[in-house]
Amino acid sequence: MAHKKQAGRRKPGARERALAEIRGDIRAAGMRGTAPRIAVLERLRRARAPLSHAELTAELVPLGFDRATIYRNLVDLVEAGLVSRIELGDHVWRYEVRHRDHAVGEAEHSHFVCNDCGTVSCLPEVSIAIRPAPGSRRSVVAEISDIVLKGRCESC
Ligand SMILES: [Zn+2]
Ligand SMILES: [Zn+2]
Repeated sequence: MAHKKQAGRRKPGARERALAEIRGDIRAAGMRGTAPRIAVLERLRRARAPLSHAELTAELVPLGFDRATIYRNLVDLVEAGLVSRIELGDHVWRYEVRHRDHAVGEAEHSHFVCNDCGTVSCLPEVSIAIRPAPGSRRSVVAEISDIVLKGRCESC
């Protein structure tokens, strides 16, 4: 009876699976999976909150990518719909991975900014509905792109 040998065939690790997914997403968006593009998207996928260009360069420049290349790839990823660009009221663009089940231009989730320490958090579990006030005839709002909540975080 033949016994299938598993030796030498390593199961792909979590990082390899993530990289394969990232390459697939980039290709599906019609772009080439270049090293900086993969590095930017990989870093954003691991982030638990949106990151600014400065935060990305602080991590990726030491790995050999330059600031301008990182910026150009962020712009490409936003244009391709793989990354969202958000502004939370402090005039800093921040970037996060856009999830596939959301249409372009639709807000994914709201964000929370701490007034004391400036920490930004994603609030995927919070749902906010805007309803017209009773008696109001019509809303001036046609579409909401971002919801930003401000206050004091748990650590402050
Ligand atoms: Zn805080
Ligand atoms: Zn977010």
